[in-house]
Amino acid sequence: MSQKTIFTKIINGEVPCSKLYEDSDCIAFDDIAPQAPVHYLVIPKKPIISLIECSIKDKDLLGHLLLVGQKIAKDKKINSWRTVINTGEESGQTIFHLHIHFLAGKSMKWPPG
Ligand code: AMP
Repeated sequence: MSQKTIFTKIINGEVPCSKLYEDSDCIAFDDIAPQAPVHYLVIPKKPIISLIECSIKDKDLLGHLLLVGQKIAKDKKINSWRTVINTGEESGQTIFHLHIHFLAGKSMKWPPG
């Protein structure tokens, strides 16, 4: 990645966040502009731009990110949520560091806009 994203700055501790979880591979924190009563992000520390960049070598990491998000939901006693991974500008991706959105706490529509 040529330029540091805001998420790299969060990982490096240069920008504060409302942290929910951290280990050697990932960090999870509340979204700064929540789109639901519960809205947090799980991101890898590895600077992956988006899901399109991933390969088989990332399979354990991708599974780990999902299970970390699941653990946070369970800790919050949430049993229904939506996970979103925007990939590329057309999908709505605005920060080019892979992240998984976890949204909960309201009734959601399908299909998404
Ligand atoms: P996306 O549109 O999928 O790239 O999602 C990027 C998300 O990052 C948006 O939901 C933003 O509200 C969120 N975001 C941007 N800056 C921050 C920040 N400093 N702390 C937490 N979330 C952020």
